[in-house]
Amino acid sequence: MSGAPVRTTCPYCGVGCGVLATRTGDRAMTIAGDPDHPANRGRLCSKGTHLGETVGLAGRLLHPMIGDRRAGWDKALDLVARRFRETIARHGPDSVAFYVSGQLLTEDYYVANKLMKGFIGSANIDTNSRLCMSSAVAGHLRAFGEDVVSASYDDLDEADLFILVGSNTAWCHPIVYQRIQAAREKRGAKLVVIDPRRTETCEDADLHLPIRPGSDVALMNGLLAHCRRAGLIDQVFVDASLSIPEGFWDVIGQGGDPWSVARTCDVAPEALLRFYELFAAHPRTVTLFSQGINQALRGTDQVNAIINLHLATGRIGKPGAAPFSITGQPNAMGGREVGGLASTLAAHMGFAPDEVARVGRFWSAPAVATKPGLKAVDMFRAIGEGRIKALWVMATNPAVSMPDAGRVRDALATCPFVVVSDVMADTDTGRFAHVRLPAAAWAEKDGTVTNSERRISRQRPVLAAPGEAKPDWWIVKEVAARMGWASAFGYDRPADIYREHARLSAYENDGTRLFALPRHGAIGNPAYEAMEPMRWLDRPFADGRFPTPDGRARLVPVAQAPLPEPLRDWPLTLNTGRYRDQWHTMTRTGLSPKLARHRAEPLVEINPDDAARLGLRDGDIARVATPQGDSLFRVAMSEGQRRGEIFTPIHWTDRQSTGGRTGLLPRPLTDPHSGQPGFKSTPARLEKV
Ligand code: SF4
Repeated sequence: MSGAPVRTTCPYCGVGCGVLATRTGDRAMTIAGDPDHPANRGRLCSKGTHLGETVGLAGRLLHPMIGDRRAGWDKALDLVARRFRETIARHGPDSVAFYVSGQLLTEDYYVANKLMKGFIGSANIDTNSRLCMSSAVAGHLRAFGEDVVSASYDDLDEADLFILVGSNTAWCHPIVYQRIQAAREKRGAKLVVIDPRRTETCEDADLHLPIRPGSDVALMNGLLAHCRRAGLIDQVFVDASLSIPEGFWDVIGQGGDPWSVARTCDVAPEALLRFYELFAAHPRTVTLFSQGINQALRGTDQVNAIINLHLATGRIGKPGAAPFSITGQPNAMGGREVGGLASTLAAHMGFAPDEVARVGRFWSAPAVATKPGLKAVDMFRAIGEGRIKALWVMATNPAVSMPDAGRVRDALATCPFVVVSDVMADTDTGRFAHVRLPAAAWAEKDGTVTNSERRISRQRPVLAAPGEAKPDWWIVKEVAARMGWASAFGYDRPADIYREHARLSAYENDGTRLFALPRHGAIGNPAYEAMEPMRWLDRPFADGRFPTPDGRARLVPVAQAPLPEPLRDWPLTLNTGRYRDQWHTMTRTGLSPKLARHRAEPLVEINPDDAARLGLRDGDIARVATPQGDSLFRVAMSEGQRRGEIFTPIHWTDRQSTGGRTGLLPRPLTDPHSGQPGFKSTPARLEKV
């Protein structure tokens, strides 16, 4: 039962690698990298390589369930539509919410967003991408006027200096890391890693700056002030293309001389000066940033500090020179394009009256939302406070992944109506559902995803969906039809949705909005079926123009916020993140025995000096406690941890382990601009058990 290779896309990280999947049996396939995909050129990391081990039926949700009883699709969909309709009629549109996922395909995302923001009339749809890169979105909007990623992977082949900030790229975006390493081998490009932890990414770096967590703005501002002193500002570009608010340079210079900056960042002055030298010597610089920047309480300011540096030195819009947000999820960017965040409308539009009216005209929508909805943390708080009374969770597991997950569970337990659509029967969030709907999984779905460099690629079905599982877009459109909007959701196939999404991106767009898909000629069905991976902008800002009202990018005067001192009862700082071979809450990667070999259990990594002080030895079991909750982890000594800081992985849930529950620990505090939670610096303590 062997078929021809199907060109599809890896469902894990934002690198968006092309995959050739060849069916070899009923639920079996071989996996290879797609040599023609521009993101990976045939390479795959361990997670992508072992995708074939994750497509079996173990644990799958195969039928709609109402409570613990199997139900037919009609009965389940009727119930969902009726409960949402009744709740809206009684309490208004803002009493309902969708919480969706960067795992959805763009077509799924588009339909869910259209239903909530155009027809229900609320913007209470947010996504787990809020937890991933919403600070990058907010930073792009402040600087560029539109959420534009200014680099592509091709820039990695042209850069002479890579600065990785808050990113364990070797583990979390392995193919990007391989491309960086290839550039270093081929052309002698330099690598600087800025990360409080000494990770695998640092091992081969030319320079590692293990800065104090949260001091990134001081570091970047210090470098920018140095550039000004050293004559490295691109004055021609500044005069032609930037808007500089009064007092900007005073704010940037506040951090003082390099020695003051080194003290604030807690790095050796010699290392800091070496960083300055490398930056000065290599105008072709790509600065890649990820969760260490985004998942901070001042994440948006950190993003803008990086962008300021690139703008003022003219390192943008040119080959091998750009700031580059590398996203976590395969389709975080597709979600951004269709307005999957509560803070945006469809097609990169916002809630300005003319944009609300434009989207309403295009959709012939009865009730377009006129203001942003609740962002993830606020959404679950509103559920706990009884303000949201019906919730639909699609393809994500907030009972594990949200900060202060214990409180999220309490909220879910009190919510009058919870719907979960998922591929798995038993998820931590699904346990709170009144209705569970079986969704088609990767290898069964058809649609598009958009990766970190904004390249749109196809995901194509290799296997038939099992049992009664259905694609997410179909489930949403059936509920929309039952709520009275059948004609607006009359899609027969994903291509219909993509075509509408593309048309909306160009609708009443005279070129002032950069996001526009039709210019690639991919609107028609035939083009969609055969769609090659494509970017909607090849080199943004190459002409020095930006999508702001005056065409200029804005330098944002961001100042370093005061850095917290250790608390008496919570003397450690908890940082959280990923392991190389696991993904999110392990619903898929947990099925692969080979992937489990890399890290079999959740570890708390601690500097040996701290461990000795606490009487802990390698392999001990210890309790990590924060004001929000506690969980057990096995102790692992690591010289790569700064003193006073510990690290735990995000993947383990109740289903795999009694310990390792990192989601219980972080505070539900968020960045003031983006609403992204700060997962990287929770006051904590560690106790031997
Ligand atoms: Fe998949 Fe990311 Fe690995 Fe590529 S780098 S194979 S997209 S997990």
